[in-house]
Amino acid sequence: MVHAPADQDQGLAGLKPKEQQIWREAVAAYAAGPSQKDLIFDDPLAEITSALARAGDEKSLVNTGVDARIAQVLTQAAPIYRKVWWTKHRAANRAWKAAMPELVKQHGPKVLDFITNAYRLEWPVAGYDVHVSAYSNWAGAYSTKGNLLVASSLDAGVQGAYGLETIFHEGMHQWDTQVLQALREQARKLNVPVPANLSHGLIFFTAGEAVRHIFPDHVPYAYKFGVWERGLSNVREALEQSWKPYLEARICRSAHDSLTTRDQSQGAALTSLSLANYSRYCLSYTAVLWIHFPFAFFAVVVTVRVLPLRDTVIVPVKTTLAPFFSLNFKV
Ligand SMILES: [Zn+2]
Repeated sequence: MVHAPADQDQGLAGLKPKEQQIWREAVAAYAAGPSQKDLIFDDPLAEITSALARAGDEKSLVNTGVDARIAQVLTQAAPIYRKVWWTKHRAANRAWKAAMPELVKQHGPKVLDFITNAYRLEWPVAGYDVHVSAYSNWAGAYSTKGNLLVASSLDAGVQGAYGLETIFHEGMHQWDTQVLQALREQARKLNVPVPANLSHGLIFFTAGEAVRHIFPDHVPYAYKFGVWERGLSNVREALEQSWKPYLEARICRSAHDSLTTRDQSQGAALTSLSLANYSRYCLSYTAVLWIHFPFAFFAVVVTVRVLPLRDTVIVPVKTTLAPFFSLNFKV
């Protein structure tokens, strides 16, 4: 949204005075009415957005469910919008729509695993439709009633890995009621209030970490775009100290489960399989296969899998083994 005024000025320069006047009247009507409300929580904005999404390429907004007065303003402004802004905005929408499905197809399942594994809640099998528009709201994307997700194709915070993070972030708002209830229950037991914005902070943190788990250089949205400083600073430290280790432990747990399942499905003759206690940072997963006594005459297989976390540092280690040990390693 921050670039919208400059975008508007550029477009207005290409309009005739009468068209400029119609446009300014439309903007004034919006400023005096819908713009005073919150796109996510306030009626009837969510209904209008849903109705517009359903209307698709309809030539008229009559009978689409859009409030008549707003439909009239939009109908008057639409030809002007098409004339100077639509071509550029449509190109941005198309570019976004061309890039995001591939990212979601390639990495979405892992992000989803991470998130559902952390929250232990069900994600709808059919997922969510994501609607794209040149501008959405101040945040670059939002979700509202009816599981309606709207993302901005022009916002830098919704491109590439940030688009991936944002889509899942918005999808996680489906759990707002459940999460808030769980937090309240927990807070009641501890006799403390639920900190403001904790559930939203959890979403920012978890979606950001989910994407960073795939792209280790990814700086989560909340850090990159100053979200913590915009009203969430009260929960940041607690999330870093308590929620982050929990997420890392969940990753380790999940890695352990999948490796165990895989080993078993491969029919490995496991006498016993032990998972090394994962550290707070879960630097590695270690599977140890012990086979029979006397120990020295049988193979000991140690598998160490280094998990791709930001804190992972590869350090070469020289190991001297007794002569009857052979060392076989892959990095
Ligand atoms: Zn949010």
